[in-house]
Amino acid sequence: MPVIEMTVELQHIRAARERITGKVERTPAVVSQSLSDRAGHPVHLKLEHHQTTGAFKLRGASNAIAALSPQEKSRGVVAASTGNHGRALSHAAKLEGMRAVICMSRLVPQNKLDAIRRLGADVRIVGNSQDDAQQEVDRLVAEEGLIMLPPFDHPDIVAGQGTLGLEIMEQVPDAAAVLVPLSGGGLASGVAAAVKGLSPSTKVIGISMARGAAMKASLDAGRPVPVEELPTLADSLGGGIGLDNRLTFAMCRDLLDDVILLDEDEIAAGIRHAYEQEREIIEGAGAVGIGALLAGKASVSGPTVLVLSGRNIDMGLHRRIVCGEAITERVA
Ligand SMILES: *Cc1c(COP(=O)(O)O)cnc(C)c1O
Repeated sequence: MPVIEMTVELQHIRAARERITGKVERTPAVVSQSLSDRAGHPVHLKLEHHQTTGAFKLRGASNAIAALSPQEKSRGVVAASTGNHGRALSHAAKLEGMRAVICMSRLVPQNKLDAIRRLGADVRIVGNSQDDAQQEVDRLVAEEGLIMLPPFDHPDIVAGQGTLGLEIMEQVPDAAAVLVPLSGGGLASGVAAAVKGLSPSTKVIGISMARGAAMKASLDAGRPVPVEELPTLADSLGGGIGLDNRLTFAMCRDLLDDVILLDEDEIAAGIRHAYEQEREIIEGAGAVGIGALLAGKASVSGPTVLVLSGRNIDMGLHRRIVCGEAITERVA
C-alpha cells in the first residue's frame, strides 16, 4: 500500500486561524519575574489555561468542526478523550447545534467528566484505558455514522493547535526556545510547525511525565509503540499515540529538538510554583514547562516561552499539592 505523506504547514495553520477567530480566545503571554531571575534570561508564560474550556484543545476542536461539511455536521461527532479534548469538542459542537458523544476511560477525573456532561454531550465511560474508549468510538462510527474527531492525530486538529504557535511568535518574536507539554503530540506538532515555519532557529522542546511517556518511547523505538498507562498528576498527558499514528509521530520526530521527562515530584513542584509565585491554578499537564525549568532539565538559553496548556485540575487535589501533602495516592 502506498504511504501517503501527511504533514501540517504554516499555510494550514494560517487557514485554521481564519476559521476559528472569534470562536477561541487569543490568550496573553506574560513575563515570569521569578523564573526569569532564576534562569538568567527572560521566561514568558503563555497563559493558555485561560482559554475557553480551560485548555488549548478548543483550538483544534473548533477548527476541525468548522472544516466539516453541512452533511457531516448533521451526523454529529464522537471522540475518545482524557477530558480536555472531550470538553472542547462538546463546547464547539454545542455552538454549532451538533450532537457530540465522548468516550472516556475510568481514569478520567470526576471534575472533567462533570464539565463535559454540563456541556450537553453524551458521555460513555468504557474500560481502563484510552484504547478501550477508542473501541467504543469505532463502534459508534461504524454503527451510527458519527464522525470521529480524534484528540491529536488529525490534520485539522494539529493545524488548530498550531494557532497557539502563531500567537507565541507574535507575542515573543525573539523566542529562542518554546517548551510544550507532550502527549499524543497534536499540540507539539502544531506549535512546532508554526514556530519553525516563522523562526527556524527557535528550539521546540516537548515535555512528558516519566510515567507512561508514549511519544518519547515511540521516538526512541523509531516507530509508535504501546506503553502502560499509569495514574499521574499530569493526567491530560496519559494515553498512547496510536500504533497506526499517521501524523504526529512523524511531525514530532522531524520537528522537536528534544523531549524531557519529569517525575511526579517535579510536576507537583511546577503546580506549586505556578500557584505561589505566578498566582495561577494549573493542572499537572500544564505545569510541566515550569517543572522542567525548576528541575534544571531544560538546556535553554535566551528568551524562553512556557506553554501553560490547561487548568482543569481537581481542586481538592490542587489544595493538597500546594499544601505540600503527599501525592502518593495518585501515583501508587
Ligand atoms: C491534551 C493536553 C496536552 C497534550 O496535548 P497533545 O496534543 O496530546 O500532545 C497537554 N496539556 C493539556 C492541558 C492537555 O489537555
